[in-house]
Amino acid sequence: FERTKVLVLGAGYAGIQTVAKIQQKLSRHTLDVTLINKHEFHYESTWLHEVAAGAIEWHHATYSINHIVDTLKTNFVQATVTAIDKEAKKVQTTAGEFDYDILVVALGFESESFGIQGMDEHAHTIVSPETAIAVWEEINKNFNRYLESGDNNDLSIVVGGGGFTGFEFLGELSNTIPELCKELGIDRNKVKITAIEAMPKVLPMFPDHLADYAKNFLKDNQIELMTGTAITAANDQGLMVKVGEEEKLIAGATRVWTAGVRGNQLMEKSFEGVKRGRIIVKPDLSIEGHPEIFVIGDCAAAMNGEGEGARPYPTTAQIAMQMGELTATNIGHIIKGVKTEPFNFIDRGTVCSLGSHDGIGIALGREVTGRRAAMMKRIIDTRAIFKVGGPILALSRGKLLNI
Ligand code: FAD
Repeated sequence: FERTKVLVLGAGYAGIQTVAKIQQKLSRHTLDVTLINKHEFHYESTWLHEVAAGAIEWHHATYSINHIVDTLKTNFVQATVTAIDKEAKKVQTTAGEFDYDILVVALGFESESFGIQGMDEHAHTIVSPETAIAVWEEINKNFNRYLESGDNNDLSIVVGGGGFTGFEFLGELSNTIPELCKELGIDRNKVKITAIEAMPKVLPMFPDHLADYAKNFLKDNQIELMTGTAITAANDQGLMVKVGEEEKLIAGATRVWTAGVRGNQLMEKSFEGVKRGRIIVKPDLSIEGHPEIFVIGDCAAAMNGEGEGARPYPTTAQIAMQMGELTATNIGHIIKGVKTEPFNFIDRGTVCSLGSHDGIGIALGREVTGRRAAMMKRIIDTRAIFKVGGPILALSRGKLLNI
């Protein structure tokens, strides 16, 4: 009899977790699994700010997908998905056409600049290894130019967004900028780093006193944070902000936009009812009218309940991984003809790193700050690899022994 064809698009947290769990739990005699991903490697999106700030080399945040693919059970194809035809049950890629019985869409996130004039052209983003590498290259290029020009403007860095990614990136800069200054013989006091946040409050996912801890961390490290300040435009000099009725330029030879993400653009092209690359999924993470299509990770808007008060879960790696696990289970249920299960998020906490030795967070119901938070973050980062690749991959690519 014919095996059920499962096609998984994207090998980020959601997609790779789906495949790992299918390989662990389901029989290859019933399933024919194909995983398609743009790169030959999986990258840890949650480490990209470290690459962008030059704290780690990009390859430290990646591992070869072949490390986790059991070739007896999964066919891995390196290709870019270009179109999904849900009626014909076919997916177009740069490596040809694939058909499926069950489709898992896990194509992740992209930057969203909310139409702010000039942002796409004039600011860097932190959304992939390529974009993260470009940020550090830009900082280096500008700091080296300063050696010739003596113009302090070359040493200015402006970051749009004082959210989770913004804080984690600034935290890493607090470690790496003094090192770069030392290396190039530049006085750190001449470097101006500014972060601009539209909301009056930062890091709303944490209690106020933890957010204050993070704000004080920036201050102690000569990083200026402007809150309640809307960015109106970006140009090749910096970011424009509105202060009262006046527009003002916040100078930045290096400009980085961290304040917005959306789901993959292919979502709008492939499905109806998609907003900012995200589609509302049913409780079992399939989409309306297509029980054979699961959308998971940052492309999915899974509701945290029913009725008027229900809100979509935030887009996080933790949620993406749990969605991947459930999807593998539900694929098993479909094959056995059993009812699929709804998604129930188990919140294990969140830690925001502030460089390699500091941070804030709530982990296992407890508040942590400082070195304990930094250690907890390393454990979380390593656990993500352990869950997919087991102890050997966790030891070689995780953060307990390395970096
Ligand atoms: P992704 O991890 O983006 O994976 C998508 C995959 O699909 C990628 O491998 C991509 O290359 C591939 N792909 C995309 N388009 C195509 C295509 N057309 N064809 C083929 N392949 C394609 N979350 C947390 O929970 N905790 C954190 O501490 C945290 N820190 C973060 C720090 C930073 C700097 C950033 C940017 C994000 C952070 N997040 C964090 C959010 C988290 O990274 C995302 O929620 C998570 O990566 C979503 O997982 P995903 O599997 O949906 O997508």
